[in-house]
Amino acid sequence: MRNEMTLSFVAIEENEALARMAMTCFITPLDPTLEEISEFKTIVSEAVTNAIIHGYNCDGKSLVTIHAVIDDNKVMMTVEDNGEGIFDVEQAMEPMFTTKPLMERSGMGFTIMESFSDSLSVESTLGNGTVVRFEK
Ligand code: ATP
Ligand code: MG
Repeated sequence: MRNEMTLSFVAIEENEALARMAMTCFITPLDPTLEEISEFKTIVSEAVTNAIIHGYNCDGKSLVTIHAVIDDNKVMMTVEDNGEGIFDVEQAMEPMFTTKPLMERSGMGFTIMESFSDSLSVESTLGNGTVVRFEK
């Protein structure tokens, strides 16, 4: 089976739930296990939350875009923002690294995304935005 979708929404925290639900519906035809669904939701939630909070500072007007493809039994997905960008991607991906400790973030987003996906890559340019790509 092949399917493809793109979804864009403004950077408000409420849209994290929208993204999670949309991706859950999108992968349903693959007959995922409950565990797989839960892992998917977590990956989407972490990536989209990062774009909204870190990329755009919840500005309520800039767009986060999710693009997802199902090909055979594989799901490929990107979460993209054109926001702040990441100063040092390698450092950002280390467990417990966060630039927002005062917001009670634990710095575990990337670590969790990495452990739940088959592959994860991050491209980011300061001032230009971030693309997180994963396969599962
Ligand atoms: P947690 O996800 O545990 O709540 P966190 O978001 O700080 O905390 P990660 O998701 O691992 O932790 O991200 C690490 C750091 O990478 C962030 O603190 C932020 O500085 C940077 N970052 C991640 N995603 C983006 C993004 N889309 N745009 C800009 N910076 C980002
Ligand atoms: Mg995070």
